[in-house]
Amino acid sequence: KAKAHQRGQCILFDTAEDKEMKQAIEIERELRECDLENELFLLFQPQYSPSLQKVVSFEALARWQSPKLGLVQPDQFIRAAERSGHIRKVTGILFNKGLDALAKWPRDISFSFNLSAQDISDRSFILSLLSAIMKSGISPHRIEFEITETAVMSDLETSRQLLQTLRSSGCKIALDDFGSGYSSFEYLDQLPLDKVKIDRSFIRKVPHSDTSREIVAGVIGLCRKLDLRCVLEGVETESEMAILSPMKPDLIQGYLYGKPMKDSDARDMIDRQQEQSNHGNAAPDQHE
Ligand code: C2E
Ligand code: MG
Ligand code: MG
Ligand code: MG
Repeated sequence: KAKAHQRGQCILFDTAEDKEMKQAIEIERELRECDLENELFLLFQPQYSPSLQKVVSFEALARWQSPKLGLVQPDQFIRAAERSGHIRKVTGILFNKGLDALAKWPRDISFSFNLSAQDISDRSFILSLLSAIMKSGISPHRIEFEITETAVMSDLETSRQLLQTLRSSGCKIALDDFGSGYSSFEYLDQLPLDKVKIDRSFIRKVPHSDTSREIVAGVIGLCRKLDLRCVLEGVETESEMAILSPMKPDLIQGYLYGKPMKDSDARDMIDRQQEQSNHGNAAPDQHE
């Protein structure tokens, strides 16, 4: 009886975990063999400033269009690239693509870019990012790097120094996914930061939970006292916005103001916004 039970468990384990593991192995193998330069690309998600009433920057989000696997999301391939030691190559290719897009945008639009743990523990890699910025001629003030607590955790001192290197070159640093995982106020104190992004899992709870609401308001207030900008991630509805906007967050990033979009669509959004603000200053329309 015990044997049959064990075998049953074994079959369950096989189907669920095995499938996931096979998929991960396949992603790793494909990553090794594919043409990263041509298959990786970025989407851009707008960050909206409620006080300026316009989009002021975009977050670059990685995608992989694999001929064999189809469109692969970052949650799947970034970790695979970290495991197989490919992440710096992936980051480097994506960053150059990001700079190409940024070069074509107006100067008052900036962008943010996600870095992995291995990226920020490698001094020569960080210097290569800085030299790419120099070569592009883009002002480092328009570039922000997002890091997570898990990324700095393994070697806090090295990460802190390298982030400081980026920051003293004029780039900005944002702490991503704050409020999820191992969020520690320690990092607010220890890391050279310009910005904190409150995780969307937290924003999600706000409409139903007074406690969450108070916590978000409290973190926004704390950021203000510490002279850090604060971004709310994953705002999807007007009703969420109605609760959140009295808290005066600096920036909103979520489906309400735009999903991750292609470079050309981001460009259109910027152009349309520019046109609207020109109209705002001009005389009202004659007709109607
Ligand atoms: P993240 O940096 O926290 O990025 C935000 C994620 O939330 C994005 O998912 C975005 O599409 C999603 N999101 C934004 N607004 C909303 C919303 O209103 N509702 C919902 N349901 N989702 C929203 P995405 O693009 O799948 O990226 C997932 C994660 O993958 C990112 O989380 C980031 O940690 C990582 N990632 C993405 N691109 C890169 C990259 O180039 N390098 C590294 N190292 N990591 C990356
Ligand atoms: Mg996604
Ligand atoms: Mg991010
Ligand atoms: Mg995030």
